[in-house]
Amino acid sequence: MKVSIDADLCTGCGTCTDDVPDVFELGDEIAEVKQHDVPADLEDAVSQAAEDCPAEAIIVE
Ligand code: SF4
Repeated sequence: MKVSIDADLCTGCGTCTDDVPDVFELGDEIAEVKQHDVPADLEDAVSQAAEDCPAEAIIVE
């Protein structure tokens, strides 16, 4: 699984960075992905974060 964030959509709300800090971190006003290749043990958490993102800015593929 790969994950990225659409910088045009992210509002920097901090939900994903709170939920999965090993993958997401708050950068300059928006969240950034720390590791684009998601470790297997974090795939469920990242999928949940994508569902929970209020801006639908988290892209998983
Ligand atoms: S949950 Fe969505 S809008 Fe909020 S910081 Fe993460 S990517 Fe940005």
